[in-house]
Amino acid sequence: MLLSVVVPAFNEEEVLSAFHERLIAVLGALPSEYEILYVNDGSRDATLEILGKIRKQTPQAAIIDLSRNFGKEAAMTAGFDLAKGDAVVVIDADLQDPPELIQDFFRAWNDEGFDVVYARRRTRSGESWLKRTTATAFYWTMSKLSQVEIPRDTGDFRLMSRRAVESLKQLREQHRFMKGLFAWVGYPAKEILYDRDPRFKGVTKWNYLKLWNFSLEGITGFTIAPLKVATYLGLVISVVAAVYGTIIILQTLIQGSDVPGYPSLMSVILFLGGVQLFFLGLIGEYLGRVFNESKRRPLYIVKDYQAARSSDS
Ligand code: UDP
Ligand code: MG
Repeated sequence: MLLSVVVPAFNEEEVLSAFHERLIAVLGALPSEYEILYVNDGSRDATLEILGKIRKQTPQAAIIDLSRNFGKEAAMTAGFDLAKGDAVVVIDADLQDPPELIQDFFRAWNDEGFDVVYARRRTRSGESWLKRTTATAFYWTMSKLSQVEIPRDTGDFRLMSRRAVESLKQLREQHRFMKGLFAWVGYPAKEILYDRDPRFKGVTKWNYLKLWNFSLEGITGFTIAPLKVATYLGLVISVVAAVYGTIIILQTLIQGSDVPGYPSLMSVILFLGGVQLFFLGLIGEYLGRVFNESKRRPLYIVKDYQAARSSDS
């Protein structure tokens, strides 16, 4: 039996050694062989050198060195593609996902037979009010708009069985909203509650602009409901406009024209202009995604792959 652990790392020089120590302490205690796939996602600091040292000391460690920074989603995908284990765990390198939880993951998979075991945050303490409110709004919107149920307050930290990973590997879309992809493949899943620690060292790679784009990926990647809104809103506006137009014509016929009608004209034009621009932009979002998908580019490029020494045979 082999457990693969995928660790995407982008500029994580400050934490990697501490992370690795904690990880192998946990993995060594498992009744299973293991391999650790570190994915260096185009780091510009000493991450790669540190990984080289780690691999020298730990025969189970492999390094997937990507040709540039492709983003965490692509880095994870590279790990999934090269993992050989009967189950695969994804974990952040910054110690926000406690490695000790892997024991619980392993038990739920090996003893209880779950295909997917994911960690769910018990609290979002240490996050600002704005972050929590926007997160709630996002999960609410997603649950209303999309068919697949995306568990809230979960990150990418999880274990997946071989067959779940094989299913996931078939989803090769460019715009990778991982939480959605994980949920889309289905399989019996179990959640494990935990308290998310603050980042051990270094800085987060997220900001509000990135989070906004992330939400947009989530919505446009998993539902075309917003496009339907355009249709219905357009229909309603047309009906209202027709009724209003009839009233104005009748009024003019009966009473004659008394006011120039500038305010109503202006407000209708501005309103319709706004609605049209909004939905034009929305269609653009989807069209842009079609454009990106149609190029069929690989999701990442591996510059160098150093396999685990323990699996040299
Ligand atoms: N990461 C990556 N590529 C990126 C950004 C992040 O591989 O372009 C990795 C990063 O090294 C870490 C994990 O993804 O292991 C989570 O990143 P981060 O801690 O910045 O995200 P947060 O925990 O704030 O959501
Ligand atoms: Mg983090």
